[in-house]
Amino acid sequence: MTCWSLQTAVITDFTQLSLRSCNDKDVGHTHSTFVSSTGLERTTVSAGFLCLSCHLPLFSPSNRPSDPAGMAELEGLEFGKSDFVLLDEVTMEQFMENLKLRFEKGRIYTFIGEVVVSVNPYKHLDIYGKEVIEDYRGRELYENPPHLYAVADAAYKAMKRRAKDTCIVISGESGAGKTEASKYIMQYIAAITNPSQRAEVESVKNVLLKSNCVLEAFGNAKTNRNDNSSRFGKYMDINFNFNGDPTGGHINNYLLEKSRVVQQHEGERNFHSFYQVLRGGSDDLLKSLCLQRDPAEYAYTSQGAAVTLASNNDSLCHKAVMAALKVIGFTAEEISSIYKILSTILHLHISELTSTEPENTRKALLYRTVATGGGEVIEKGHNEQEASYGRDAFAKALYERLFGWIVGRINSVIEVKDYNPALHGKNTVIGVLDIYGFEIFDNNSFEQFCINYCNEKLQQLFIELILRQEQDEYQREGITWQHIEYFNNQIIVDLVEQPHKGIISILDEACLTAGKVTDTVCLDSMNKKLGQHPHYTSRKLCPADKTMEFNRDFRIRHYAGDVTSDPVLKEMWPDGKMSITEEPYYVRCIKPNEVKSPLLFDDGRCQHQVAYLGLLENVRVRRAGFAYRQPYARFLQRYKMTCEYTWPNHLMSSDQEAVEAIVNQHGFEDDVAYGHTKLFVRTPRTLFTLEQERAALI
Ligand code: ADP
Ligand code: MG
Repeated sequence: MTCWSLQTAVITDFTQLSLRSCNDKDVGHTHSTFVSSTGLERTTVSAGFLCLSCHLPLFSPSNRPSDPAGMAELEGLEFGKSDFVLLDEVTMEQFMENLKLRFEKGRIYTFIGEVVVSVNPYKHLDIYGKEVIEDYRGRELYENPPHLYAVADAAYKAMKRRAKDTCIVISGESGAGKTEASKYIMQYIAAITNPSQRAEVESVKNVLLKSNCVLEAFGNAKTNRNDNSSRFGKYMDINFNFNGDPTGGHINNYLLEKSRVVQQHEGERNFHSFYQVLRGGSDDLLKSLCLQRDPAEYAYTSQGAAVTLASNNDSLCHKAVMAALKVIGFTAEEISSIYKILSTILHLHISELTSTEPENTRKALLYRTVATGGGEVIEKGHNEQEASYGRDAFAKALYERLFGWIVGRINSVIEVKDYNPALHGKNTVIGVLDIYGFEIFDNNSFEQFCINYCNEKLQQLFIELILRQEQDEYQREGITWQHIEYFNNQIIVDLVEQPHKGIISILDEACLTAGKVTDTVCLDSMNKKLGQHPHYTSRKLCPADKTMEFNRDFRIRHYAGDVTSDPVLKEMWPDGKMSITEEPYYVRCIKPNEVKSPLLFDDGRCQHQVAYLGLLENVRVRRAGFAYRQPYARFLQRYKMTCEYTWPNHLMSSDQEAVEAIVNQHGFEDDVAYGHTKLFVRTPRTLFTLEQERAALI
């Protein structure tokens, strides 16, 4: 008698319906006679049934009773708990048990307060349609089962109500579902805005949505962990006017993995864009670019020996990308330049295609200019290794610039123009950050170092802000704050970024004196300065061949685990600066297994992710003081039937007093605190008891 989601219930006791009927409104009588349009059996009530006395619909989807505490799911224990704060005890075992149960039941989202934990289902779920969007539109976080839409709506409401910038941070490892989540969030925001369908707003939304397709073509690739892995970090801002309608946006991209252009691991591919043009470009296009159709013809697209993607149709994608480029506003000439650059990279027929003098190009790749001691300038030939290094560096730089130019071009279309705050009110922003999580490989390079450092910073921000949000809410509500113990990763952040003695400083110094400082010297200096640090170690590995030099590395004990880096870290820092507004909303994505299976929940892998995402810490913070809180009116609406003084209506002077009556009647006085607008409940047990009582009554 509980599953609203099924919208069907067998009625065994007609008096029950007086409590749950007609959108939880009291109608002054018990519905005991029902009729459906088809005259179905009257003890089974489904969507579309009407009460014969008052003709109000029962259980119809549009008239479903709201579920303020998000408890309907909780009642159906078969789906596990919809919020981890409701676990009996905060232990890894209980957390994992709940996560696994929900994954197996297709409930991939679970709250931790306002944070959504998501497990990649690796299969299509029918939970993203228009109707579902309508269910979440304008509702409070707990009124519906956990969903990305709930967070998107909360962020949107917060932005609109308070005219304040906000952002949604989506994190998790490669293949955990971050990019899909960011797309669902964007689609949700697009769907709920601009009800009047104003053409200029629709066009902004269209470009924002279409830009994903282009960014994925040029910034995503097949890796062993994800067939469509984003190889760059993305922070997308959407600007809104005072009406709450999108007026524009801005995309920041971070850390494009440009090394992929020239090198791919076994089983991996280069960026999709290369395969798409080869497979989907017209015969004429390929001819004009002197390209063969088969990616196996080119070294840069065939190193991983995985030119074909089972789950992706390159040729169709090419057409979609071309269409998207046109919608965004790329001119025919610009599109043609993009493909010229791709083909240049593929076979380095640079001169012909980039309109540079052939001789100059040849010289640039085969010679370098050096100054002699006597002040003379001479040209010196590269050896083969130097020449191919130069060629690869050129290919990487070309692709990186191309990507940066495409992002810049999209930005020029979507940037907010002619916005006059005096006329249009304050312009606010929702940012969506989709960035890779910790990466730990056998061989870690500078790219992993940067990504993992970035994740340490995000983790720090996450815990700090969650703590601060809790603290702020307690203060707002006039409740005393208690100290909370948690692991502070500041020590690891310092190891990397502290001035003069952090790893970055030491690398900086080495780069300044490039040429003089060898890897060994640099590592010695690091060991001297950081040798005693509890999160730093360095190893000397004995080579199998005794005549070879010792192999050396350093290791950072990250929040997520140990990462060993080769000391050859000489690339440049990315230019971009990340600025995240306060008050972010979080989506924490988990990858259930390594084989992209919808059926397998790999306990070990999942537990590892739960640990390094700091989810238990998050639950602890959330329930250290009070596990649950609810505005008085909503608490009352849900539990008023459990108390004789509040059912069906109370005669007290305020909802708070009525809530006090419920609490006192059950003897829960010691387990709650009364805020200015909300009731705070310390242990979930209290809510369970109330829920059980409520369930027994209805
Ligand atoms: P990430 O960005 O974290 O690396 P993606 O978002 O690209 O991961 O997801 C990897 C793959 O997992 C997607 O291509 C898709 O096949 C599947 N996937 C992710 N999220 C969902 C979802 N909500 N529903 C169905 N499939 C999903
Ligand atoms: Mg991604």
